[in-house]
Amino acid sequence: MSTAKCVGILTSGGDAPGMNAAIRAVTRSAIYNGMAVKGIYRGYKGLITGEIQEFKTQNVSNIIQRGGTLLKTARCMEFKTPEGRKQAYNKLVEEGIEALIVIGGDGTLTGARIFAQEFNYPIVGLPGTIDNDLFGTDVTIGYDTALNTIMECVDKIRDTATSHDRLFFIEVMGRDAGFLALNGAIASGAEAAIIPETSLENDQLEEMIKNGFRKSKNSSIVLVAESELTGGAIGIAERVKNEFPLFDVRVTILGHLQRGGSPSAQDRILATRMGIAAIDALLDDQRNVMIGIQNDQIVYVPFSKAIKNDKPINRELLNTLRVSSI
Ligand code: ADP
Repeated sequence: MSTAKCVGILTSGGDAPGMNAAIRAVTRSAIYNGMAVKGIYRGYKGLITGEIQEFKTQNVSNIIQRGGTLLKTARCMEFKTPEGRKQAYNKLVEEGIEALIVIGGDGTLTGARIFAQEFNYPIVGLPGTIDNDLFGTDVTIGYDTALNTIMECVDKIRDTATSHDRLFFIEVMGRDAGFLALNGAIASGAEAAIIPETSLENDQLEEMIKNGFRKSKNSSIVLVAESELTGGAIGIAERVKNEFPLFDVRVTILGHLQRGGSPSAQDRILATRMGIAAIDALLDDQRNVMIGIQNDQIVYVPFSKAIKNDKPINRELLNTLRVSSI
């Protein structure tokens, strides 16, 4: 077995609930398998500056239930340059870290892919993003918790929407991906979702109104994915004010509260399984793959596939929302 004796772990990009559960699982599994573990703080930034600490099993006690990431996260422009990545590589050599586990989204895995190729260095990625926009995995760490948060928020907004007969546009996260908006709409009983995936196919606002939207209801809630393609909740609301001035329109942008909170059971279990699988992957001499889950089975997805392909939205869900919201 040519496996690393010491692995480094970092979280990078946008934080997501469940990252701590993943850090815990990676640490414990590495130790269980006789490896040393080093926690790298603030993503690629801390790798370059050397904010690194050896982790024992107690370092990850009492964190499974906490949102955010114990290792902190950051965005790091230097890592996008060859000089920055060389500094990072030198630091890994200096610290005796022979393989890396990175937890993050599309940007994090893109950086990992470039670095792994440049230095022929083993990296395993975990999909940590509330957006669920990584190809090759049914779900990402943090997505389920964010979906539940959105559902709870929409339930609350519905109380006021109903009392005032208002039309609410609620903007949710999902950098160019409609998973949170569409499934959030189904879960909260919203009337419609406006998502980037179908933005170029038809005018979703017009469609919504043409289909008798609000014929049978006095108040309505529409979830809008934040994206240039949808125009966001503010853009849509402006259009309604101009084209349908009779509606009493309001906008709520859920923003960063969607990232926070204690991870759901599903995210804790997913993160734990994926964390264990990341170490298994290294033991199996896998490198430069993202751990994914498909039909409840762990799979290895090459970085190139995970980040290059657009993850398609399940079309059946569009119909589910349409039919269930008449
Ligand atoms: P996320 O991982 O949540 O998508 P970002 O897109 O901000 O978040 O990416 C996180 C970090 O990954 C960036 O700050 C940068 O350090 C690194 N990264 C992103 N894209 C690249 C790239 N093309 N080359 C090298 N590093 C990158």
